[in-house]
Amino acid sequence: MSTVSKSTSSKSSAKSTSSLPVATLGTPRIGPRRELKMALESYWSGAIDENALIDVGVGLRAANWARQKSLGITVMPSNDFSFYDQVLDTSVMVGAIPKVSGWKGGDVSFATYFAMARGSQGYAHDEACTHGSHAGGTSQGVPAQEMTKWFDTNYHFMVPELAQDQTFSLASRKPIKEYEEARSLGYQTRPVLVGPVTYLKLAKSADTSFDPVTLLDRLLPVYVEVLGELADRGAEWVQLDEPCLVLDLDAAARQALQRTYAAFAEAVPQLRIMLNTYFGELGDNLDLAVSLPVAGLHLDLVRGPEQFDEVAAKARKDLVLSLGVIDGRNIWRSDLSSLLDGLEPMVDLLGPDRVELAPSCSLLHVPIDLGLETDLDPDVRSWLAFSIQKMEELAALGAALAGSRANVAATLAASDAAAAARLASSKIHDLAVAKRVASVDATMRRRGSDFATRAGEQHRRFKLPAFPTTTIGSFPQTAEVRNARGAHVRGTLSDAAYKTFLQNQTARAVRWQENIGLDVLVHGEFERNDMVQYFGEQLSGFAFTKHGWVQSYGSRYVRPPVLFGDVSRPHPMTVEWWQYSQSLTERPMKAMLTGPVTILNWSFVRDDIPREVACRQIALAIRDEVADLEKAGAGIIQIDEAALREGLPLRKSEWKSYLDWAVESFRICSSGVRDDTQIHTHMCYSEFNDIIDAIGAMDADVISIETSRSKMELLDAFRTYKYPNEIGPGVYDIHSPRVPETRDMVDLLKLARQRLADSQLWINPDCGLKTRKWEEVRPALVNMVAAARELRNLA
Ligand code: GLN
Ligand code: ZN
Repeated sequence: MSTVSKSTSSKSSAKSTSSLPVATLGTPRIGPRRELKMALESYWSGAIDENALIDVGVGLRAANWARQKSLGITVMPSNDFSFYDQVLDTSVMVGAIPKVSGWKGGDVSFATYFAMARGSQGYAHDEACTHGSHAGGTSQGVPAQEMTKWFDTNYHFMVPELAQDQTFSLASRKPIKEYEEARSLGYQTRPVLVGPVTYLKLAKSADTSFDPVTLLDRLLPVYVEVLGELADRGAEWVQLDEPCLVLDLDAAARQALQRTYAAFAEAVPQLRIMLNTYFGELGDNLDLAVSLPVAGLHLDLVRGPEQFDEVAAKARKDLVLSLGVIDGRNIWRSDLSSLLDGLEPMVDLLGPDRVELAPSCSLLHVPIDLGLETDLDPDVRSWLAFSIQKMEELAALGAALAGSRANVAATLAASDAAAAARLASSKIHDLAVAKRVASVDATMRRRGSDFATRAGEQHRRFKLPAFPTTTIGSFPQTAEVRNARGAHVRGTLSDAAYKTFLQNQTARAVRWQENIGLDVLVHGEFERNDMVQYFGEQLSGFAFTKHGWVQSYGSRYVRPPVLFGDVSRPHPMTVEWWQYSQSLTERPMKAMLTGPVTILNWSFVRDDIPREVACRQIALAIRDEVADLEKAGAGIIQIDEAALREGLPLRKSEWKSYLDWAVESFRICSSGVRDDTQIHTHMCYSEFNDIIDAIGAMDADVISIETSRSKMELLDAFRTYKYPNEIGPGVYDIHSPRVPETRDMVDLLKLARQRLADSQLWINPDCGLKTRKWEEVRPALVNMVAAARELRNLA
C-alpha cells in the first residue's frame, strides 16, 4: 500500500532523541493504591457521584502519562484506561449494547455501562471461585454480560453478545476523548483499540448460533469512523490489538484480518497502525501478519523469541517492528546485558528507524510499583520488576541501543549483579529438592491398586449410603471471619484468641453438618485467606507482596503469590485443623488441599526453570502433606484442581504436553496413599469434552464438578468416555443467592442418573460456599440432603 511506505520517511523523532522509541502498549489502570477500586465501590454504594468518579479517572490517567513520560517512555498509549474492562468499552464504542439495558441511542450512561458489567441489581459476579472466571447473571433486572478469561491470563473480560442481525454505530467516543485529554496535557499518544477481528472472535452469538466474524462488514465502518476522527485530531499512530493472531485461526478469521487492514489502509491512509500481537508466537499466522498493510507489527519475543528472524526476513523493508522483550506477564527483573546481546544484531539488521522496544504485551497484567514492597525479603526484591521498573528497563535498553551501553553503565551493572545473585542464591536453589524431583519414579505416579479394588476397600471402610452427600470445602467467609482475620494480621487479636475464634467457627459448622445429616463433613476452611495463598505462605519458595495487585475483573484485584525458589514443606500445613475437626465428630471428615497445578497457575512463576519442574516440586510438597494426613487418620482427602483447565496453552498443539505434566503432578501428590484412602478432587468448570482423557488419567477416586447450570449435559463427556470412578456433579449453583428447591435438585439428579451409574454418584454443590451467606447455605444444604433421601427411596 502506498500509504504505508511513506511511514518511515516521515518518522522523524527517533533520531533526534537519545533513545530508540520505547512503548508500554498499555498500563495498569487500577492506581498504585487501588484508587480505582475505592472510587468504583464508593460510586456503586452511592457515597460519591458520577462527577467524582469521572475525576478519579482523569487523575489516574494524568498520573499514568506523567509517570511514563518521566520514566523515559516515548510512545505512550491512550484509551488503555477503563472503568471496568477494555472489551466492554469496545462493545459500548460500537453500540453493541443489549436492548434490555434500556439504551436508546445517544451517550451511554454509567448506569447502562455498569448494568452491562454487573447486572442492574448490583453484584452479579460473586467470585465464588476465588479468582473469578465465572459467568454472570442475576435473577432480576438486566443480566450482567458473561465474563471469561482474556486468553491465558487471569484477567476476565466481558463477553460481547452479538445477534445475527446486529447493527453497529458509534455510541461512545471514549478513544477520541482520551486522546484529546492527553493532548490537552501536552502528550502525543498512540491510542489503543481492541482490533475488530479479535473483538469478534471473542464475542458470542446472542441468538442463533453463527460465527460473529460474519458481522465484520457491519462493524468496520464504526472503526473507520473512530480512526478517521483520531487522525483528524492529530493522532499519527494507533495501536490495534489483535492477539487472535497467536491462536489457531480458521480461513474466515484470516480473511477477516486481511479485509480489515486493507479497509483501514484505504480509508485512513494518513494514520499509521501498529498491529499488536502478544501472548505467543505468530506461528502459522506469520505470513498473514507480515502481509497486512500496516506500518508496524508488535511481536511477543518473550513467548516467541524464535519468530524474529523469519518475520525480519519476510517483512516489507519499511515495516516497523516492535520488539516485545520485557516480560509483560511476569514480575522478574530482566537481565539487561543479555537482552542487549540479543537486541543489538536485530537493530543492526533492521536499522534504528524500524525498531521500537516494548514489553511483550500491555503491562496490565503486572503489579504497579515494586517500590511499595518495603517488607519483602531484600534479596527476593532485588530480583523483581513491576510495571514501573519494567519501564525503567525499557528506557535503559532504548538508551543503550541508541548510543552505547556506556550510557547506562550503572543500570547495567546493577542488572548484572542481580542476575548473578539470583543464579547463585541459596534461597532459590535447594539441592535436596532437586534430588527429590530427580528421584520421582513410576511407582510414585500410580496408586497401589486399580480403581475397582480401591473402591471396594473404601466402601467397606466408610459404609456410606448410596448417593453420599458432601460439600466442596468452604463455608461462608462472613464479615465476622474476615474481621477476625484482619485483626489478627494487624496484631490486635492475639494468636491464641484468633485460634479459639476459628475453633468455635469450625465446631459450629461441624455440629450443624451433623445435624442436617450430611455424610462426609468438611471443617469449613475458616482459617484460610485464600486457597492458594494459605499454602504458599507455609511452603518455602514463595513470597507475598503487600501492594502487588493485578486486575482480575472490574474492581476485583488479586495479589498472586511469587514463586521464586525451590519448593519444600518445612512442616505440616493442615493436619492440626483436620485433627481438631475430626475430633468433633464420628462421621468422616474430609481433609482439604489445593493441588499443585492450581497453586502454579494462580502464582507468578519463576522463569529460570520450566513450569513443569516447578509444578513437580509443589506436587512433592503436597504429597508429603497427604502422607501426614493419612498418618493422622484422614481417610478422605480432597485435592482441588480448580485451575487445571485454565492453564491450557492457547494453541491446541501444545495441549498434550501441558496435560501430561499437569496430570503427572496430580498423580505424584495423590498416589502415595493406601487403597482404602479415598482421594477426591474438585474442578470448577463446565467443559470437559476436550480434556476428558486427562481427567480419566488423574484417577481420583471421586471428582466433584460444576454442572448445575449445564443441566448435567456435561456428564455426557464422562459417559462417552466410560469414566469408571465416582463423580459428584454439582446440583446447585453457588454463584447465585437463590436457594434451590429439593425438587430442582432431584430433577437434576435424575438427569445425572440417565448418564451415570447410581453407584458412581455423589451429591454436592457446584463449588465452595465461601462467598454465600449462611442464610442461603442453610436451607440450600437442608434441601440437598432431602434430595439425596428422595433419590435413595427412588433407587
Ligand atoms: N475447597 C475450595 C472451597 O470450597 C475449593 C474452591 C475452588 O475450587 N475454587 O472453597
Ligand atoms: Zn470450584
